Amino acid sequence: PEYQEPQETRRTDVTYDDLGGLGETIDQLREMVELPLRYPELFRRLGVDPPRGVLLHGPPGTGKTRLARAVANESEAQFFLINGPEIMGSAYGESEKRLRDVFEQAAKAAPSILFIDEIDSIAPKRGQVQGEAEKRLVAQLLTLMDGLEPRTNLVVIAATNRPDAIDEALRRPGRFDREIVIGVPDESGRREILGIHTRGMPLAEDVDLAELSRTTFGFVGADMAALTREAAIEAVRRIMPKLNLSEGTIPPEVLDELRVTREDFNNALKRVQPSAMREVMVQA
Ligand code: ATP
Repeated sequence: PEYQEPQETRRTDVTYDDLGGLGETIDQLREMVELPLRYPELFRRLGVDPPRGVLLHGPPGTGKTRLARAVANESEAQFFLINGPEIMGSAYGESEKRLRDVFEQAAKAAPSILFIDEIDSIAPKRGQVQGEAEKRLVAQLLTLMDGLEPRTNLVVIAATNRPDAIDEALRRPGRFDREIVIGVPDESGRREILGIHTRGMPLAEDVDLAELSRTTFGFVGADMAALTREAAIEAVRRIMPKLNLSEGTIPPEVLDELRVTREDFNNALKRVQPSAMREVMVQA
């Protein structure tokens, strides 16, 4: 099973260097989020309120969560995470209470970033809202955003794959009034992402990362990460027969010789599909 993110985590160790192909996005976020978090006095001096909420939108697996962690880390801010679908409680009022609690903790721990993943599940368009419970949750979120003291050094970053599916009221001034679009990476973006995910990986000389970035059209960051993971598994499979597993330890020379090869990547490519293409095909 996937590793379950705790509801909130404090400090993170992700840096901007752990994000590939997002140079301009990082510049935008630094200006919108890092600057006001680090130097609130700058905005105060100018008599303007720093941004409260930033909406990140882009397809799944493009690094939105990782980006939010990186900004928090690089701004020396505490990081709090709310996962839209997970916050939905069953008991009456439970989801609103959870939301209030996290806002309160984040405000207390400021400077903080509160990241709301899949905000569309918390705040779908009013017309599409199913029940009373959802209506109350949207209202609670709006109240919490509006109630943030201007001096509280807290920025709320929300992510969605479907910007057209969220309640318009969320985008009013003082709420999520800034937007950053994250796209599917191009070839050079994929090259950067590959570099990041093979950083600690011993590669055979025949591996050509530039070529791999050319042939992975439609792959997003999460797909590139899956590809390198699969290639590593291929390498492990290849050396298994050479191991005498009854000994319980792997001889150091075997570890020394272990490399991920071009063929490992080619085999991995047969199994990893670009998620963007999957979506296009499902929609078509
Ligand atoms: P979702 O919308 O599905 O939550 P997301 O956009 O938040 O996805 P992340 O959860 O940040 O994406 O990314 C998933 C994983 O994919 C990351 O942990 C990382 O390994 C890899 N990844 C995604 N984008 C990038 C990127 N731009 N650079 C490096 N790695 C990336």
